[in-house]
Amino acid sequence: MRQLDTADLRTLRRQLDTMKQQVLDELRATAPSARMALAEGDHEVKTHADEAEAERAADVYLAEVEVDRARLEEIEHSIARLTSGRYGICEDCEREIPRARLLAQPTAIRCTACQAAAEARRRH
Ligand SMILES: [Zn+2]
Repeated sequence: MRQLDTADLRTLRRQLDTMKQQVLDELRATAPSARMALAEGDHEVKTHADEAEAERAADVYLAEVEVDRARLEEIEHSIARLTSGRYGICEDCEREIPRARLLAQPTAIRCTACQAAAEARRRH
């Protein structure tokens, strides 16, 4: 991690902690809504339209919770990498991820080239 100095690492750590807090807040706000929508689907159904509506709402909330959970995992992974000294090393090619990329996107775990390749793989 020659390219990142102590101040950079401190900044990144702070950013990651802030991001983590935001996701946790979102989860705390969304998770009960998802549970409520699901419960409504189970108990307070009057018509099929109500049921479909409750299910749709639950799906939306659950999808949001899923996104937040994946995001939280990403952030914690990055924090773990910071702690272990692996931060800023591309997971695929082991080269250093450019400092500017990390400061713009603290959860980046790959260099730009490997990230593009990984996304191309995921699309197939
Ligand atoms: Zn790479």
